[in-house]
Amino acid sequence: MLIVMQSHAAPAHIERVVQVIQTQGLTAHVMPGATRTAIGITGNTGAVDKSLFEVLPGVEEAIRVTKPYKLASREMKPDDTTIQLRQGTVGPKTFTLVAGPCSVESEALMLKTAEHLVSRGVKFLRAGAFKPRSSPYSFQGLGLEGLRILQKCRDKTGIGIVTELMDTEYASVVEEASDIIQIGTRNMQNFSLLKRVGQCRKPVLLKRGMSATLDEWLMAAEYILAGGNYDVILCERGVRTFSDHSRNTLDLSVIPPAKALCHLPIFVDPSHGTGKRAYVPAMSLAALAAGADGLLLEAHPDPDRAASDGAQTLDFTALDALLTRLKTLAPAFGRTM
Ligand code: PEP
Ligand code: MN
Repeated sequence: MLIVMQSHAAPAHIERVVQVIQTQGLTAHVMPGATRTAIGITGNTGAVDKSLFEVLPGVEEAIRVTKPYKLASREMKPDDTTIQLRQGTVGPKTFTLVAGPCSVESEALMLKTAEHLVSRGVKFLRAGAFKPRSSPYSFQGLGLEGLRILQKCRDKTGIGIVTELMDTEYASVVEEASDIIQIGTRNMQNFSLLKRVGQCRKPVLLKRGMSATLDEWLMAAEYILAGGNYDVILCERGVRTFSDHSRNTLDLSVIPPAKALCHLPIFVDPSHGTGKRAYVPAMSLAALAAGADGLLLEAHPDPDRAASDGAQTLDFTALDALLTRLKTLAPAFGRTM
């Protein structure tokens, strides 16, 4: 249920609606809009009685939300979500780049990468301190030491940090070390983890599960929003198909329907999406054209020596060339970088 307030509704009217929602044992989500405030209701298992709200002062109307994902739906919030970060804004009319190695490998490597990115105007550094690897014998990441290195990069250069949280145990330390918390494809339906990041006060980058439908992905986002964390960025990273010419099938065709159904920003990860660095530039440009709000790119000064995912990682020369092309094209799609 969505309660739409009149444009002249006073704060006390909004507070009254929130009280009535809470008295029913339900959760109120106040969403200020350009002209009026809307209040989403979650927590109900059956229908909520509209008339409880329609009689309250300042209420314009009570609308049933038909989609199973409520807070993530455009029915609930027609305007695109904008996320404000210290380093800049994520959302409509912008195109945000996040780049860096697959894993945090060493302090020297991370500082070199952070400095390069800052010199090119890239505001976010990605790298995993905790790595979800298919084999238990592969490099598992530096863990807490990796987080310390990332924080050092932020302190020295001001760059924003995007890093993965794999389990609830490390939620507080990852939240502290990051500007955006990444939830990986293998954890998209780890509901305990989703509930935990719903309590965090940092934006969450939610990667699409490698076999998740759009509805499942949006329901996963709903878990985070329902917990009170409204700053969620979706990230398409490729899905499993019969195709074997690339690591995954980067599903750029999910962007228009995701945008139609949901107000959250969407990034694209063409590195994991293709698995081959040669294909990353074309798919990055295609993501911009398809309506993405940003990219997550794997980049490393010497990809052939990277501890993980070197084959899909751009070196700095290739990254710079891609940035130049993106900067040229972004204005044609109404976006600034
Ligand atoms: C990553 O971004 O490093 C990563 C592990 O991605 P994914 O969860 O999409 O495989
Ligand atoms: Mn990787």
